[in-house]
Amino acid sequence: MNIHEYQGKSILQAHGVQVQEGFVAETAEQAGLIAEELQKKFGTEIFVIKAQIHAGGRGKGGGVKIARSPMETAEVASRMLGMTLVTPQTGPAGKLVRKVLIAQDVYYKGDSDIREFYLSVLLDRKRSAFVVIYSTEGGMDIEEVAANKPKAIFTEVVDSTCCLHEFQMRTIASNLGLQGKAYREMVRFISGLWNAFVSSDASLMEINPLLKTSDDRVLAVDCKVSLDDNALYRHPELAAMRDLNEEDPTEVEASASNLNYVKLDGDVGCMVNGAGLAMATMDLIQLSGGRPANFLDVGGGASAKTVEAGFRIILKDPNVKAILVNIFGGIVRCDRVAAGIIEAYKTIGDIKVPVIVRLQGTNAIEAKELIDTSGLKVIAASTFTDAAEKVREALA
Ligand code: GDP
Ligand code: MN
Repeated sequence: MNIHEYQGKSILQAHGVQVQEGFVAETAEQAGLIAEELQKKFGTEIFVIKAQIHAGGRGKGGGVKIARSPMETAEVASRMLGMTLVTPQTGPAGKLVRKVLIAQDVYYKGDSDIREFYLSVLLDRKRSAFVVIYSTEGGMDIEEVAANKPKAIFTEVVDSTCCLHEFQMRTIASNLGLQGKAYREMVRFISGLWNAFVSSDASLMEINPLLKTSDDRVLAVDCKVSLDDNALYRHPELAAMRDLNEEDPTEVEASASNLNYVKLDGDVGCMVNGAGLAMATMDLIQLSGGRPANFLDVGGGASAKTVEAGFRIILKDPNVKAILVNIFGGIVRCDRVAAGIIEAYKTIGDIKVPVIVRLQGTNAIEAKELIDTSGLKVIAASTFTDAAEKVREALA
């Protein structure tokens, strides 16, 4: 699950990590009041208004603006709220801005001693370890740095028997070229960030830019946080940060029906039980000349109801030209799945796309009987190659 910048910053702050101070606003009026508050509390003179959407590159798209008074802050916020922000990461459709973060300017004016770094903690699946990736070249796309200046990117691999060691934090601060107070602040920052990362079961915390101010403070100007969905049950306060507005509506509906659904941009919908079989089925579709329209794992305990919900979700996608149902009955009984398919045909009405069904395993014979006697125009397949062949025919 991804969260907003302002929410990520609140997690960091709870672990003593310094961030650019600010508060979130949903109206222009609130934005103005927050600016007044920052002025009173910190003597802030320059304010930053930042669109809160689940996508980066906001700076480039006009989602980060400066104002010089609370009144101007309110004006800028009023223009930003309700706008559709297009950034290099949103795709051409952009994202509607519903919230803005009002923060204090931390790039003190006329200053030459400011430095922007990049630092992220993430799970490196290839190494089976957490890593800290960091760079002296912050504030820009890390992909760009990787392509043009790969030597400016460093990695510290976290000791999986323990933690990120303090000597590693010192290595990072030193590789970033810091000394004295800034060096100590950086070590403290990384230590707090690591604690925040571990205690929130995050899979990514990316700080870009990580700023060293002119007076040698070290703080997060931006932060991108992804939390591990499977650990959210341990953190109700983090689970509550979910913003459904930022998620694909079909995926939200699927998760409400306990389906693992990921939308893709192909033309063959698929419904499978088990993630491994689902991956193999997507390969199968590709081999038969089609492209998968989705990943859908109905899970081990699929009932007729889940199958019906799965059909509804697949059929919402106008690109779908055929559907392949590939179920291996273990705990799932094939006759239940068949009943779900028949039910879906009845309740959804006219299903126009060809449906290829392969049901094997527990109660496969009963399932076949159910489908044969239902009178539905379902194409039965017995083996993987047979299914691939029938998908190919259906697409022809
Ligand atoms: P992103 O573009 O979505 O990654 O958003 P960021 O939070 O990283 O902000 C983009 C850019 O806006 C940063 O790289 C900074 O250059 C600029 N920016 C952010 N905060 C401030 C600030 O307090 N003052 C000034 N002058 N610029 C800022
Ligand atoms: Mn950024």
